[in-house]
Amino acid sequence: MKAAVIESPGVIRVEEREVPQAGPHDVVVRVAACGVCGTDVHILHGGFRADYPVIPGHEYAGTVAAVGEHVTHLRAGDAVVVDPNIHCGVCPYCRRGLIHLCENLTALGVNLPGGFQEFCRVPAKQVYKLPANLPLAEAALVEPLACCVHGIDRANIQVADRVVILGAGSIGLLLLQLARLAGAHDVLVSEPVPAKAALARRLGADCVVDPTSTDLGATVRERTEIGADVVIECVGNPRTVAQALDLARRGGRVVLFGVNPKEAEVAVRPYDVFLNELTIVGSYVNPYTHARAIELLASGRVQVRELISHRFPLAQFAQAMALAAGGGAVKVLVEP
Ligand SMILES: [Zn+2]
Ligand SMILES: [Zn+2]
Repeated sequence: MKAAVIESPGVIRVEEREVPQAGPHDVVVRVAACGVCGTDVHILHGGFRADYPVIPGHEYAGTVAAVGEHVTHLRAGDAVVVDPNIHCGVCPYCRRGLIHLCENLTALGVNLPGGFQEFCRVPAKQVYKLPANLPLAEAALVEPLACCVHGIDRANIQVADRVVILGAGSIGLLLLQLARLAGAHDVLVSEPVPAKAALARRLGADCVVDPTSTDLGATVRERTEIGADVVIECVGNPRTVAQALDLARRGGRVVLFGVNPKEAEVAVRPYDVFLNELTIVGSYVNPYTHARAIELLASGRVQVRELISHRFPLAQFAQAMALAAGGGAVKVLVEP
């Protein structure tokens, strides 16, 4: 079979590998589609703790090709998605139910072979069966959607809240739809790229602003009088983080969802956080949110078809990565 390998930072190869065998508690998934995530781009550029050489890819769907002898909840031919984050179950965080903060967290596509290959061995407990008629290309977005479901839980949106979303990449566009489902009454999206702004409009944004040509702060104040109840930063940039803190109303909530560079810093005035009772929360991966993400996709309550902007065969993995790194694409899929 073919597999895309990041040998070391900056070095990509597509090579022949043996098809993996299922251990007693594993399944082997024939990968139909795997999304390129910002994390994959970081792994390529050496900005993320990966175990090189690594077969990246953690957003994938496929069909079960082989089942280990102790696996009972899956059989060959099942359409499935994979939760790539594997927790240890015994550390102090796992013992408190905070599995995503596990001290020994490993991930398929980061520390273990991931989805950019034709067949992937996966511990069976990480695998979720899909309902019939969900296209596998769309199901590849279950993993990022599951991250966004956790982000919306962290955002704690109340009915009729006014929400601002900074950035309309695939994550911002998923959070926009979830914010509406959570009861937001006015969702304003800030996005400079016209194609992404248009998608935000089509997917239900009440107002879309180009922050390079419009005064975002003035627009938010005009629409909300006092500032946003909830601001979700989906860019991963210290400038937009600072902007998010400015856009929240007194008593408001700021969710840091975008992945900033590790060494990035933002100036925060503790006095303002104190006086305005700001709540600033992070959101990291997807603890037990895959089942809800699958339901949202299967029921059509969340739309992802339009988010898939490009599709590549595995042989063109390097091109897919370059396109995703460029920032113009929404979601790039690789179909092994
Ligand atoms: Zn990801
Ligand atoms: Zn643990």
